[in-house]
Amino acid sequence: MGKFSEIVFLVIDDSKISRKWLIEMIPPKILEHATIIEGTNGQEAIDLYKEHQPDLVFMDITMPIMNGIEALQAIKALNNDAMIIMISADRQKSTQERVLTLGASAVLAKPVNADEFRATLLKLVF
Ligand SMILES: [Mg+2]
Repeated sequence: MGKFSEIVFLVIDDSKISRKWLIEMIPPKILEHATIIEGTNGQEAIDLYKEHQPDLVFMDITMPIMNGIEALQAIKALNNDAMIIMISADRQKSTQERVLTLGASAVLAKPVNADEFRATLLKLVF
């Protein structure tokens, strides 16, 4: 086990295929020693965050039950150092600025560009 052995990722998206694509973009060297936890809405994000204390959260915005912006606020209230990358089809600058103001570490637009994704991931985790 190397230096990646303790990395825990939380992947929150109501779309199973979006979660799958996202996980597949994680570089294999990181993925093979990482723990991936998946959830499908903002409430699950909060519950899973409390349970697993992930190193990095990938959070969709538009989801049933509780959206990603509400979950972002709740998790940042629990731990202001939480690292959360928001991932959304909403390309409006106002939405992107809002989530950054609320404490998101980064915002990526769907469909996620793999190079941009990896660069953001590596910058935040290492
Ligand atoms: Mg969604």
